[in-house]
Amino acid sequence: TGWWGGVEPAAKDPILGVTEAFLADPSPNKVNVGVGAYRDDDGKPVVLECVREAERRISGNLNMEYLPMGGSIRMIEETLKLAYGENSELIKDKRIAAVQALSGTGACRLFADFQKRFLPDSQIYIPVPTWSNHHNIWRDAHVPQRTFHYYHPESKGLDFAGLMDDVKNAPNGSFFLLHACAHNPTGVDPSEEQWREISYQFKVKNHFAFFDMAYQGFASGDPERDAKAIRIFLEDGHLIGCAQSYAKNMGLYGQRVGCLSVLCEDEMQAVAVKSQLQQIARPMYSNPPVHGALIVSIILNDPDLKNLWLKEVKGMADRIIGMRTALRENLESLGSSLSWEHITNQIGMFCYSGLTPEQVDHLTNEFHIYMTRNGRISMAGVTTGNVGYLANAIHEVTK
Ligand code: PLP
Repeated sequence: TGWWGGVEPAAKDPILGVTEAFLADPSPNKVNVGVGAYRDDDGKPVVLECVREAERRISGNLNMEYLPMGGSIRMIEETLKLAYGENSELIKDKRIAAVQALSGTGACRLFADFQKRFLPDSQIYIPVPTWSNHHNIWRDAHVPQRTFHYYHPESKGLDFAGLMDDVKNAPNGSFFLLHACAHNPTGVDPSEEQWREISYQFKVKNHFAFFDMAYQGFASGDPERDAKAIRIFLEDGHLIGCAQSYAKNMGLYGQRVGCLSVLCEDEMQAVAVKSQLQQIARPMYSNPPVHGALIVSIILNDPDLKNLWLKEVKGMADRIIGMRTALRENLESLGSSLSWEHITNQIGMFCYSGLTPEQVDHLTNEFHIYMTRNGRISMAGVTTGNVGYLANAIHEVTK
């Protein structure tokens, strides 16, 4: 049996498994609405024009040196402005400890490790449902997990009453993981008014909000609007944590560029926290990758390129919003007796369709349509060309 005889194959990742099955299907009609990556209206992956231009500027100016342990200072500066606001006093007062992270996943993991190291008895409250990797991240950081109500299956919307009860009933000073916008997998976000109530109750209970913001700009098309939840918490004087990612909103998936920030009481505390975050990163990967960070800082430091980026994010969000309308209208015009309002009420990359695991199996086996068995449709995989086919198949399996 040797050294590794006791090693069993790991369970397949539910999301990556869908892509494998899709690739293996020879049908010309096959549709992949499983994967959480943007596709254009021809179903092709996209490299943004602003990114292509940044690449052109880099190519004549190669530099392969290490970044500082905490990552690119210029990238972090611009990234914090997106989350905390262009003219944030918190940034000016240097109250934010921030390090470049390996995209959103790495930012969450760094935070989870930090939480464990400095508050070893703390737990994390996670919404039901959530991005499946959240469970893995806090599990591997050895932080015990609790859950809070979030999605309401009957209305296919927010279980606001359940959420507020859980917030009230959690022990004072609990940690909560919140999706800043475009909740994955449900596409259900609290309204602005609801965020204000949540923030108020967090104040009363002295809870800590950790925002995972993987889709800034992707929900509404406007990064400022998508930062609203965070801004409300800041207005109320919370000390938050935040994971940011450029995977989706800049299409830099494989570059692994993101940022973890922790808002502190003052500059001195921020310096200490940052140094500890670096200390956690050091034995894992020493310092983060340089190329993606350079792309981001070139784009965000040049007003023209930044405007181009804003236009392109809006273009992606608008295409998705348009596909939501098209999918709903197609289902309605097929005479479906079910309500499909939630398709257009939900926001961001995903539509939590309400399809059962059996209906999803049916879609896959009969219609070659691939998605996770929780009924999550990646709207980014829906195109003018396949929306009719998709609607018809959904209608057939839900009749
Ligand atoms: N958080 C959420 C809610 C996500 O949906 C994702 C990506 O699917 C991520 C974080 C992290 O993505 P990445 O590590 O590619 O930035």
